[in-house]
Amino acid sequence: MPSRRIVLLGPPGAGKGTQAKLIAEKTGLLHLSTGDVLRDEVARGTGLGRKAKEYMDRGDLVPDRLVIDMVSGRIAAVGGFILDGFPRTVPQAEALAATTAVELAINITLGKDEVVRRLSARRVCRRCGRIHNLLFDRPEDPSVCSSCGGELFQRDDDRAEVIENRYDVYTVATAPLVDFYRRRGVLREVDGSIGRDGLCARILELVSA
Ligand code: AMP
Repeated sequence: MPSRRIVLLGPPGAGKGTQAKLIAEKTGLLHLSTGDVLRDEVARGTGLGRKAKEYMDRGDLVPDRLVIDMVSGRIAAVGGFILDGFPRTVPQAEALAATTAVELAINITLGKDEVVRRLSARRVCRRCGRIHNLLFDRPEDPSVCSSCGGELFQRDDDRAEVIENRYDVYTVATAPLVDFYRRRGVLREVDGSIGRDGLCARILELVSA
């Protein structure tokens, strides 16, 4: 029986966003990226966006209660989901567990040096949201999306000074979720260094098992 309530764990840059999009396309599950939702709130200048921006600019986590409220409303009525970037703290995981039982938590592993290398080279399409990487997915023109021709940009928090802090925040606040889900018997681990297509095939196997 395929899993329908899935969370992706792993350090920033491990490939959670790219993989969540691919898996959602192939399975029809709802893909929810809290980072994407927050960036949209910031871009629209909403109350939540204004509160979240200062944390995001530093590479810190947005306070739990803001993020938990934002996610609960979006997943309450759906049959299945793949969450990317949530939960990111133990209180967030506990809040999610109080609403719904996660069936599969996939931890995408990647070392710090590779995280820094990848994030520095990451570019995102302003129009379709596709994530490119100038190291191994380099579009012909490094400022133009190869899917839709939209403009590619570097996220503010993918700058070198913020990346270090994001990795440290991950280690302290988010890495404990690996044990949280291991204890619940739903954790699977995959090696994030094997490349996008290999990783997608491996994750699909886990989701379908
Ligand atoms: P991401 O796109 O997942 O790397 O998220 C970008 C930024 O959004 C993070 O560095 C945090 O500032 C914020 N953010 C995203 N998801 C969460 C979350 N679950 N809890 C707190 N902050 C978050």
